[in-house]
Amino acid sequence: MRLLLLIIALGLGIAIIKHLLSAKGTPPARENPPTAMVRCQQCGVHIPEEEAFHEDKLFFCSDEHRSQYRS
Ligand SMILES: [Zn+2]
Repeated sequence: MRLLLLIIALGLGIAIIKHLLSAKGTPPARENPPTAMVRCQQCGVHIPEEEAFHEDKLFFCSDEHRSQYRS
């Protein structure tokens, strides 16, 4: 009977530890910062602002389109 209690206690202990570890191991749900999308003035494709080539307040998907737009 004692052995059974020990097994149950052990099982509960393992379950609790597993629960704590899984709770700890899971990174907090972090949403990606919203990336501003901009539109290429030359071809109209949408690209993340950080990847865009820009001139003044205009954005372009590539350096090529930037120079095409200027000409
Ligand atoms: Zn473009």
